[in-house]
Amino acid sequence: QTKLKAKNKDPYPDWKAGSPVPYAALCTTFSLIELTTKRLIITEHCSLFLQQVLRLTPDDFLPTVLLMVNKLAPDYAGIELGIGESLIMKAIGETTGRSLQVIKADQKEIGDLGLVAVKSRSTQPTMFKPKPLTIRSVHKGLMDVATVTGGGGAQGRKVDLIKKLLSAADAHSSGKIDINKDKGGPSEAKYIVRFLEGKLRLGLAERTVLVSIGQAVACHEASQKGKIPSTTQMEEAEALLKTVYSELPSWDVIIPAMVRNGIMNLRDSCKLRPGVPLKPMLAKPTKAITEVLDRFENQTFTCEYKYDGERAQIHYVAKDRSEDLIEALPSATKEAAKGVASIFSRNSEDLSKKYPDILGKLHTWVKEGTKSFVLDCETVAWDVTEKKVLPFQQLMTRKKKDVKVEDVKVKVCVFAFDLLFLNGEALVEKSLRERRELMHGAFNPVEGEFAYATHMNGQELEEIQIFLDESVKASCEGLMVKMLDGSESGYEPSKRSRNWLKIKKDYLSSVGDSLDLVVLGAYHGKGKRTSVYGAFLLACYNLGTETYETVCNIGTGFSEQVLEELHKQLSEITIDRPKPFYSHSSGGQHQPDVWFEPQYVWEVKTADLTLSPRYKAGMKEKVDPAGEKGISLRFPRFIKIRDDKKPDEATSSRQVAEMYRKQESVTKSKGPSVDDDF
Ligand code: ATP
Repeated sequence: QTKLKAKNKDPYPDWKAGSPVPYAALCTTFSLIELTTKRLIITEHCSLFLQQVLRLTPDDFLPTVLLMVNKLAPDYAGIELGIGESLIMKAIGETTGRSLQVIKADQKEIGDLGLVAVKSRSTQPTMFKPKPLTIRSVHKGLMDVATVTGGGGAQGRKVDLIKKLLSAADAHSSGKIDINKDKGGPSEAKYIVRFLEGKLRLGLAERTVLVSIGQAVACHEASQKGKIPSTTQMEEAEALLKTVYSELPSWDVIIPAMVRNGIMNLRDSCKLRPGVPLKPMLAKPTKAITEVLDRFENQTFTCEYKYDGERAQIHYVAKDRSEDLIEALPSATKEAAKGVASIFSRNSEDLSKKYPDILGKLHTWVKEGTKSFVLDCETVAWDVTEKKVLPFQQLMTRKKKDVKVEDVKVKVCVFAFDLLFLNGEALVEKSLRERRELMHGAFNPVEGEFAYATHMNGQELEEIQIFLDESVKASCEGLMVKMLDGSESGYEPSKRSRNWLKIKKDYLSSVGDSLDLVVLGAYHGKGKRTSVYGAFLLACYNLGTETYETVCNIGTGFSEQVLEELHKQLSEITIDRPKPFYSHSSGGQHQPDVWFEPQYVWEVKTADLTLSPRYKAGMKEKVDPAGEKGISLRFPRFIKIRDDKKPDEATSSRQVAEMYRKQESVTKSKGPSVDDDF
């Protein structure tokens, strides 16, 4: 930044204290970040910029953070841009007076739509100068794109709104932007297009932004007192922010409170609360009961059935309490008899419209003194006549939206396994034993509607083996084994923790788990399959580099009917060439016939994992000492579409590498625990 300032003494004359932050200033920071891969430097650039925003325009701190994390609102708000590559190309073409054909040709050659936008822009003579973009106006403009409603002309209106943004982009930058230099430099159009594509590709993961926010606020607060914060103070601020965000993952709530009351007071106002879903705690796979016993040696643990349904986080506030918590309840919540309640999915989507039957009955399961709660559960399809759990496939047949109670054919039973909040108090730091006791005291189970997950506290191998067999007989996937006492048995939001282990019957002595992979491409079918795709190219997700790394081709496990459906679904999202954030082999014979937008996640089983020069998975994790091979799946088999996972929630490269290492026993060390989001 110093160098940059030296070049141009006052690059943003419009950015005065209190005035909106120029979007160009953020793009300059992005371009500096783009030129490095060093996390510390990225964090520093980010933190310096945030300090400047805090000093000059604290009101813009929230939209700045949102544009940095490539989000418009918290996940539970359900705001999605809903645009693919073709709409963006159309908007670029129409803004710059270039034909769609030319844009497509450029995209084929350059392979990065952001740079295509820059190139298109720089050939366009500027007739008049629109008002410079600000962070506020860009956030609002993108929000307008996301919230366009209605059928017919919605796509056209989206294109018009994107055009409005693009025509104001870079209008004030001096001279031409060279797409071959410094990755296109600080072009506004480039970053707007990348935001629209859902990937800024700066190596700026949300956890890096979080650390930068912690540092920036600590520095800003200290500087106001004429001081410099110590390393310990910075670390305390970061740790506090991390805890607060894991319990209340909403920048919309946290940032105003932080700017108003200071970072160290965040704990007072920003706590886990009904209405804001937290990212669920996740489990690590294991391959044998003995592995579980090794892990929990000298610790008490408990086993629970692992139900095969859909994760559901139920939030509830009784009517007589809603007054106190009214501020805490976002518009997403739904009226339920005797209270206000919402159901959220594994990735914080509001499922209330999918489960009106649960919301309608909820109050009958709630005991008199239970006034507010957040409950972690699994909804499972239920056979009313046989009174037993049905396979997951049955649950899949339920409609996803606007379900009417009278139309529900597949009944569900809610199996509760954890209680995170009760009567105004967060329970996440309590031991599992305490949480479980509180949970058992707060509800009235009703057969076929609401039950507690079946559990067993026995610690012996034989007991666990019998319990595992019983779980499978009861149509469950296997067991969850959880630390029961002590601080390690607390609930760790958003973490794939070693304190929760899963044992799946199917995977004993293989790789331990199935994988959830993103579909990147497909091969045309042969013989009987000529009208559909016959095989697909799948990838895992590298959270650090924000790239999809190829991991296998798959052609097994699909019925003819499924292949037809997949063909219909996927042919709507084809793209002309792989995205720049796909990491794949470039050799001609390994290229799929068609490429797709990264949209669908499939669950896939595998016999085992092996190294292959053809795939890229885990290459950055250094599984192959020579650095030439990635990890691939042997004999992969399609299980199902995971529509509760977004592409960046697919199995991570680190998880794939961890599975491979465990299988190969390449390393004896247990390694750090994988932190999915933070
Ligand atoms: P999976 O494919 O195994 O569901 P995942 O990545 O969605 O993978 P994991 O942490 O691997 O999640 O497995 C835990 C999942 O199992 C939870 O998300 C939940 O939906 C389900 N589940 C079923 N029974 C339980 C239970 N008793 N305790 C915790 N989770 C349970």
